[in-house]
Amino acid sequence: MIYPENLEEDNGLIAFYTDRNEGVDPERISSLCGFPEKNILYMKQEHTDRIITIDEKGDFISLVGDGLITDKKGLLLSIKVADCVPILMWDLKKEVVAAVHAGWRGTAKGIIKKAIRSFADGYNSSASDILISMGPAIRWCCYSVDERVFSLVKGQTGDGDYYIIKDDRICLDLPHANKCQAVSEGVPGENIWISEKCTFCYPEKFFSYRYDKTTERQGGFIGLR
Ligand SMILES: [Zn+2]
Repeated sequence: MIYPENLEEDNGLIAFYTDRNEGVDPERISSLCGFPEKNILYMKQEHTDRIITIDEKGDFISLVGDGLITDKKGLLLSIKVADCVPILMWDLKKEVVAAVHAGWRGTAKGIIKKAIRSFADGYNSSASDILISMGPAIRWCCYSVDERVFSLVKGQTGDGDYYIIKDDRICLDLPHANKCQAVSEGVPGENIWISEKCTFCYPEKFFSYRYDKTTERQGGFIGLR
């Protein structure tokens, strides 16, 4: 398990990322963190910008979207990834947590901006109180994109330090693109932690779709006890 480095301990919040050994199987995740399996919420992710608000405990078997947000204690929000960015967000003043899946499509749709607005609109959060962490994902060392993808991401992100040009190739860093978007919404840069790990560089440690077209996933998980 990898813990966000901007996570303080002993505050009722649990947030972590898994690797290929731990995966996303509910029984395994339950044994790792103690949340009952039925309280671990997974979505059918479709590279949308849809953020689902969980406002009561209940039957969650048909969630379709790419972000979850709640202030309910005892639920573990999760996202599955293999190269895309697993984003965990929390505001402990308002006791709200969110989990967001951001590949290039979600980034090009500004899903992290929508998540920040969901904190504000649904829970009266101030952007300056939101902390964000981004787990292992494919990074600029290994992720070159074509002009079309780049222009779609840039259209939502603007200028910033999230790509490099290397041997005439555009190398994109989705964690930094999402950081730029979050900062543009008022989240302080120092509130945002990005894992150093690149999934494509370490296929023995992480599932990487672009490395071997795997259908398996690791995850990001967050909840309030
Ligand atoms: Zn890499």
